[in-house]
Amino acid sequence: MKKRGIVSVVLCILTVLLVCGCTQGKQAEGGIDNISVVATIFPEYDWVKNLLGENPGNIDLTLLIENGADLHSYQPSVDDIVTIENCDLFIYVGGESDEWVEDVLANAKNPNMVVINLLEVLGDDVKEEEIVEGMEAEEEEGEGEEGEEEAEADEHVWLSLRNAQKFCDEIAGALCNIDPANEANYKANLASYKEKLSALDEEYKNACDSATQKTVLFGDRFPFRYLTEDYGLTYYAAFVGCSAETEASFKTVVFLAEKTDELSLPAILTIEGGNDKIAASVRDNTKDKNQEILTLHSMQSVTNKDIQEGVSYVSLMEQNLEVLKKALQ
Ligand SMILES: [Zn+2]
Repeated sequence: MKKRGIVSVVLCILTVLLVCGCTQGKQAEGGIDNISVVATIFPEYDWVKNLLGENPGNIDLTLLIENGADLHSYQPSVDDIVTIENCDLFIYVGGESDEWVEDVLANAKNPNMVVINLLEVLGDDVKEEEIVEGMEAEEEEGEGEEGEEEAEADEHVWLSLRNAQKFCDEIAGALCNIDPANEANYKANLASYKEKLSALDEEYKNACDSATQKTVLFGDRFPFRYLTEDYGLTYYAAFVGCSAETEASFKTVVFLAEKTDELSLPAILTIEGGNDKIAASVRDNTKDKNQEILTLHSMQSVTNKDIQEGVSYVSLMEQNLEVLKKALQ
């Protein structure tokens, strides 16, 4: 009897704690519900931040895949799932890396949740992941069963300044619907942010139009198809953008080295977060062995430290432009 009484008391306390815990954070001071926006990857998060502007007092913005975690290997925690299920606006890529989203959304608690899928926003402008000459094809699971290999959509849609403008239109529209009191604010922020994006797009266009080289070569994965196609550049690379490969075959290395020689390319490119091993062995197999190894940032793993230091979508794309100029000399 005594023991049971204690258990009841503990259960009561637990219940009170749980109830308090659940309502806490959902409510802003004064008891009005804050609007909750969840973005899966850094570019989406940074676009929302720019659209909210200086005074996003009534909006809680969450970056889901944070602290340098990679989109390709991320799995949501129980806390992440609760955050998504209760949010008002959810933004995700909609490609092969975040297929887990479908299951989570099927259980969503908020019937008024607005969901933005970047690939759906692009519609017919989504490009297929392609295998160019010299690239190592991925080993498909269950190979041979279906015969034909299915073409996968290229999910790295955020690496185009032109796509970014379409996504910002969509996000600003959603914010205006959810929070009509601040519509004028969102519209003004959208206009000034799009101006920045299109000015940078123009700089890319001028730099690529006047460049000596029209080809980039990656001793790495290649997630930049949307960017290179915006400016009429061609590319060679070791693997497709979503590949999990880290070791290139000797055949691949030699092919890339010969292309570097043939086109007299001044640089061999890599993406952030990896190492230069493949790029270095490509260089070692060229005639001159004097190419620069440079990194283009694909924003697939941005760290909290980067964000605290003020890194933004625009600053990373500006940095990429300077790298690209060197690689196209
Ligand atoms: Zn990918």
